[in-house]
Amino acid sequence: MRTSEIRQKFLDFFASKGHQVVASSSLVPVGDQTLLFTNAGMNQFKDVFLGFDKRPYSRATTSQKCVRAGGKHNDLENVGYTARHHTFFEMLGNFSFGDYFKQDAIRYAWEFLTAPQWLGLPKEKLMVTVYASDDEAYDIWHKEIGIPADKIVRIGDNKGAPYASDNFWQMGDTGPCGPCTEIFYDHGDHIWGGPPGSAEEDGDRFIEIWNNVFMQFNRDETGTLHPLPKPSVDTGMGLERISAVMQHVHANYEIDLFVDLLKAAARETGVPYNQETPSLKVIADHIRACSFLIADGVLPSPDTRGYVLRRIIRRAIRHGYKLGQKGLFFHKLVPDLVLAMGDAYPELKSGQDRIVAVLKAEEELFARTLDNGMALLEGALEGGKQQLDGKTAFKLNDTFGFPIDLTADICRERGIEIDMAGYEAELEAQRERSRNSSQFTMNTQVAYEGADTQFQGYSESSVEARVLALYHEG
Ligand code: ATP
Ligand code: MG
Ligand code: MG
Ligand code: MG
Repeated sequence: MRTSEIRQKFLDFFASKGHQVVASSSLVPVGDQTLLFTNAGMNQFKDVFLGFDKRPYSRATTSQKCVRAGGKHNDLENVGYTARHHTFFEMLGNFSFGDYFKQDAIRYAWEFLTAPQWLGLPKEKLMVTVYASDDEAYDIWHKEIGIPADKIVRIGDNKGAPYASDNFWQMGDTGPCGPCTEIFYDHGDHIWGGPPGSAEEDGDRFIEIWNNVFMQFNRDETGTLHPLPKPSVDTGMGLERISAVMQHVHANYEIDLFVDLLKAAARETGVPYNQETPSLKVIADHIRACSFLIADGVLPSPDTRGYVLRRIIRRAIRHGYKLGQKGLFFHKLVPDLVLAMGDAYPELKSGQDRIVAVLKAEEELFARTLDNGMALLEGALEGGKQQLDGKTAFKLNDTFGFPIDLTADICRERGIEIDMAGYEAELEAQRERSRNSSQFTMNTQVAYEGADTQFQGYSESSVEARVLALYHEG
């Protein structure tokens, strides 16, 4: 079953259960300053769940464009290293706004996954997790659906804090929250990894495919949970992950859609096609994130959102460089992406020329400093050094446009650490310098315009500092 068919089947299934099919929202969240990029299907319904926005339907289903690079969920570092993480991915979801709850949600999920006329997956390859104290969900899985006890894992609170669990979802410190139940697929004992909750759960044998969140409580300022009068459901299933299962492959990168992109990446970088080459995976992943972000109006810039885009583009370019492609290549993958995904996302087609132009301009810009930056880095690492000094990491950032995560990516490949304390000290010194000059700028501007003007730093490093701060805030 092709990826596009699975997407359609999911929407058809939930439409047949009375759900309104709603279009994906933009990757740039509308009117939500707390979010860098749309990172889940529920984002566009946040106000509906909170009761601030009323819709003519109480059930909805979507295939939502998501980006998890930067902000609360950041999977950038996983790309190329795990079988299951992308920066951009599609999240299939069904939503109940005070309509059905646990029982129907679980029944629907099970029917879609296992009924022969839908996905028809073998039941014995699936296992589920529930929140430790959620007996209700446990009983539905066990007694109604018939999942054996050894395939249901109760996941409790980790990190010692109440409700800090993979199986307890919360929108923020206060507000709607509740337990989740997650469905995993066992890709077989030839792959390293253990079931959820075990010591080897970080492996890629048991892959999480679907999360069902039950918004059951409202948490007040004191941390007390109050039952919501009309509990809701929010679910998310990664399309690429379920596609891998349906196509009998292990990694997302082996599905139809990605094979086409990997081949295009191999062609444009001039290396043989190989599904195992991490740099090809990174490039294939990043062309999606970058193109979709540009299609939704993000432009590379020293600004927060634009800077995340710039960092993804530069990482992709550096991986091409690593494969020996010193010329411009990244923008040449856009037509392949449009072929693969343009039917489902017309904005790719209509935006194609602009996407190509933006990527090409960004490639030209970085091409001016990439070679010299790499030479500086190689020089600093000469003699088998085990650590990159902070000054060099800073200079790479400030002068050569190497965002710190790009430098870290290179160092990680070689098993070298960055002296982050040294790097942050350089950043701090830079911040100090710009504070001093901003003091001056502010004073003169205020005197001149009589207005309360705030100085905005423009150098890459002060931008980097802002992005780092955002990361730390999570
Ligand atoms: P994981 O534990 O594998 O990182 P998650 O628990 O962070 O996943 P959720 O926030 O529960 O993921 O999102 C719902 C679903 O979206 C997941 O079950 C998975 O199928 C999919 N998903 C999440 N992150 C990614 C990603 N980076 N790339 C592809 N699919 C993803
Ligand atoms: Mg995750
Ligand atoms: Mg998870
Ligand atoms: Mg999850």
